Amino acid sequence: METDAVFIAVGYTPTTDLAEKSGVALTPEGYIARDERHRTSIPGIYSAGDVEGGYKQIVTATGQGAEAAMSIFEEIINPYWQRENEEKPAASVI
Ligand SMILES: Cc1cc2nc3c(=O)[nH]c(=O)nc-3n(C[C@H](O)[C@H](O)[C@H](O)COP(=O)(O)OP(=O)(O)OC[C@H]3O[C@@H](n4cnc5c(N)ncnc54)[C@H](O)[C@@H]3O)c2cc1C
Repeated sequence: METDAVFIAVGYTPTTDLAEKSGVALTPEGYIARDERHRTSIPGIYSAGDVEGGYKQIVTATGQGAEAAMSIFEEIINPYWQRENEEKPAASVI
């Protein structure tokens, strides 16, 4: 087959060593499990960027970082793990 160029996909392995050592839950695919507010399975630990899976682009990572920062800001004032009737972070990627 004739072609002008070829892209070779080498794959991607998320760098989750620190998360794993911290006991943060991962998805079956090896990414950090988190809820829509970027809260991981451990209260006070948040995720953003390529380690969450999905689109691996700079703009996505920075957007997720901003969302996580807003969650952190709100939860420093009012920790969700101390609120009654608050649903705990889901252990899955949304
Ligand atoms: C070859 C290539 C080309 C790309 N081109 C583009 C492009 O043109 N446009 C685009 O939008 N995206 C591009 N991307 C994707 C983009 O680089 C990533 O989506 C983006 O950098 C993700 O940001 P991040 O902060 O999640 O992770 P990273 O930028 O990977 O940052 C994670 C940081 O954490 C550090 N780290 C990891 N583990 C530890 C630890 N245990 N202790 C301390 N530090 C640790 C790492 O050293 C690293 O500095 C490209 C990626 C690659 C590989």
